[in-house]
Amino acid sequence: MNKIIVYSEINAEKVTDASLELISKAYELKLQSNTEFQKDILVEAVVIAVELDELSKQRIYKAGADRIIFIKDTSAFCFMPTIYSKIFVDYFNQNPSDVILFPASEKTRTLAPRITTLLDTGLVADCTNLELVLKNNDIKLASTRPTFGGELMATILSKKIPQCATVRPGTFKIKDVNLGMKEYFEFTPSIYEENRIKLLRSLLDNKVSTSTLQNAKIVLAGGYGIVSANKIEYFDKLQKLAKILNATVACTRKVVDYGIMPSSSQVGQTGQTITPELYIAFGISGAIQHIMGMKNSKIIIAVNEDENADIFNYADYKIVADAKKVIDDMLGSVL
Ligand SMILES: Cc1cc2nc3c(=O)[nH]c(=O)nc-3n(C[C@H](O)[C@H](O)[C@H](O)COP(=O)(O)OP(=O)(O)OC[C@H]3O[C@@H](n4cnc5c(N)ncnc54)[C@H](O)[C@@H]3O)c2cc1C
Repeated sequence: MNKIIVYSEINAEKVTDASLELISKAYELKLQSNTEFQKDILVEAVVIAVELDELSKQRIYKAGADRIIFIKDTSAFCFMPTIYSKIFVDYFNQNPSDVILFPASEKTRTLAPRITTLLDTGLVADCTNLELVLKNNDIKLASTRPTFGGELMATILSKKIPQCATVRPGTFKIKDVNLGMKEYFEFTPSIYEENRIKLLRSLLDNKVSTSTLQNAKIVLAGGYGIVSANKIEYFDKLQKLAKILNATVACTRKVVDYGIMPSSSQVGQTGQTITPELYIAFGISGAIQHIMGMKNSKIIIAVNEDENADIFNYADYKIVADAKKVIDDMLGSVL
């Protein structure tokens, strides 16, 4: 293994946090390789975009990249997976690596499979951990992801090269690495095909608050245990409380399935992965699919009337009580 490529995504003209998280993880793998296998690995951030501003560049280096490859998108003024995949593969074929990591954003979820298909290799999607292992004297990427509906964790070693994985935002922390020498190269693709898709207009979906949830320091999460006869009542109260505490409201999938909260508020395996300073779970049972999205929160407080609820196994503070009453009491004390 000589280098790890991190496909680094630009959104709203800035490099995304999910990309930086992955660059930091790649840097961690580089350190692991140095100490465990005495092998130096390069961390290369590949950016395809219209522009790459200086601040984004500095953030990429700071997160742990040794090198940035910037491929200017001259074909379209928005993300085109058909074109981006070919451009990336063009670069990759001339500059191969053993590993490619992708942040699992909505865009890269459509891009990564196209790239791996073109490269005739596999893709381990939605990984929750990555590490390096030695197998038959080769350094391999071991990608861990949930399987069987989240009941089991599977660690997968790819037989094919490059070994590719996607990782959901919020899974790893952005590091502040002070590297010495930094490299920056621009790559001009040799293949530019006619763009068969025209962007007519782009609309911002204001109701989706995924980034708000991902950046929230305090999250108040409601589960089926606070669903009352008129359904929404205690979620309205949570919203009120969240406003006062400068927090964000999240929920379980069951709450989404009942049409009480939007799916953008769902935390877990099929929702958001978050790492707030404080996570308070009100009436949440602690199913593994939910836990996977919030277990790395700094402090977890769980309120559940069942003293044997699974959520308590992950909580720093346990409150065995009626969660609705606790919400009323909290509101009463701050209003
Ligand atoms: C493939 C797959 C993917 C999934 N992905 C996700 C996901 O991303 N996120 C997710 O959340 N779930 C996910 N699920 C669903 C998950 O398995 C659980 O069904 C769900 O998380 C349960 O939600 P809940 O805790 O709100 O409800 P319940 O499991 O019904 O738990 C309600 C809890 O509230 C407690 N309670 C009841 N009344 C009160 C009260 N008055 N005060 C205090 N406590 C009370 C009960 O004791 C219970 O523990 C997924 C499932 C599958 C199969």
